[in-house]
Amino acid sequence: MTLRKSLWAVLSLCLVFLWSVPVYALEVGSLRFGSHPDKIRLVIDMDNVADFRTFTLGDPYRLVIDLPQFSWHAGTTQTPPETLVSDIRQGQLMPNISRIVFDLNSPAIVQSAFLLPTGNDPNNVRLVIDYKNVDLATFAANKSNIHGTLQVENHSPSSNTQSYASATNTQIPYPPSNALRPNADNRNTIVKKPVIILDPGHGGVDPGAIGCNKVYEKTVVLSIAKELQKQLLSTGRYQVYMTRKTDTFIKLKDRVRFARTHNGDIFVSLHADSVKKKNVRGTSIYTLSKKSSDAQTAALAQKENQVDMLAGIEVNIEDEQVAFILGDFLMNETMNQSKFFANTLVETLSQQGVKTLQRPHRYAGFAVLKAPDIPSVLIETGFMSNANEARLLTQRSHQKKIASAIRHGIDAYFKRIAINEQN
Ligand SMILES: [Zn+2]
Repeated sequence: MTLRKSLWAVLSLCLVFLWSVPVYALEVGSLRFGSHPDKIRLVIDMDNVADFRTFTLGDPYRLVIDLPQFSWHAGTTQTPPETLVSDIRQGQLMPNISRIVFDLNSPAIVQSAFLLPTGNDPNNVRLVIDYKNVDLATFAANKSNIHGTLQVENHSPSSNTQSYASATNTQIPYPPSNALRPNADNRNTIVKKPVIILDPGHGGVDPGAIGCNKVYEKTVVLSIAKELQKQLLSTGRYQVYMTRKTDTFIKLKDRVRFARTHNGDIFVSLHADSVKKKNVRGTSIYTLSKKSSDAQTAALAQKENQVDMLAGIEVNIEDEQVAFILGDFLMNETMNQSKFFANTLVETLSQQGVKTLQRPHRYAGFAVLKAPDIPSVLIETGFMSNANEARLLTQRSHQKKIASAIRHGIDAYFKRIAINEQN
């Protein structure tokens, strides 16, 4: 037996032992690269023996390492051109599993991957991954070859729907579709139902739009949200939380915070605002963007974002901007996911016979959609400024119809994600 093989045998024994108890306390320390004539060697310092798996992906080219949930302590890592690495990202993939992604600027395959203890110190283990630059044919023949023994159930290595924190961020909450994936070691975890956060707009001192029939937006959207919650819960497939269940005022920031502390998988803000043109009617869906899709949407977002101020709350704009920039990397991934969700909703709403606005999916800088890690949409269920719609929105049957259409949209979204992940 070579030294490496006997070390491996000892380590495997340790792994068998470790795998039977949940290990959450893995710390990932520094990362470094070494260039050799026949390979690039990546060494990752860890404080414990841990199961792992590694593979490369194409389109774009990446080297991926999955590990038990870790805390990230790697500072800045030098990635000279010969490493092929353009960026390093990391974050939680699913409960108990974390992932490191190395963005590569050309195709590569993993040659070998193994653990090396350093000296007699059990708190100092190296994960060594040798990879090399290859031509496209070799890449195609070898990609997704998995090295390592970490079991990540129901999660194909080629799945591309997650988002990760950039390596300078230390931690992210789990990715959007996380809840759909059962954990590898299900002795220790329960499969989690997707968490839907419903956010009825306005409330308390802030009535929102007031219809010509003197009906308040805050009242209408609360009824629709309660109906939607009931319908979602009755499927048995979701956990549903509401940012407010009563007529209370909640700051925009606290709505976002609520979604994050409840580990929301999607965030749905419900509104029924007014627009200048009284003839405008129909349901519309809004996602976050730095630019607005049109003047009407820009005005809508501006009005929505001012509700805290109008309610006499001091808004710390600086605070919100900082949060936005920090989450920028993640934000792009989340914004894509939000668009996907919005488009799914648009499709389902019309299938369910709900009248939608022309160009029903629009975008602008809505503050309430700024959770950096949760796909978020704002639904204008209708416009209070339209007399017909204001009347309809107060009708129980219409509220049920809207809620049911949104529920179908949420079903379709999670179904599509599940299909995506099987491919
Ligand atoms: Zn509103």
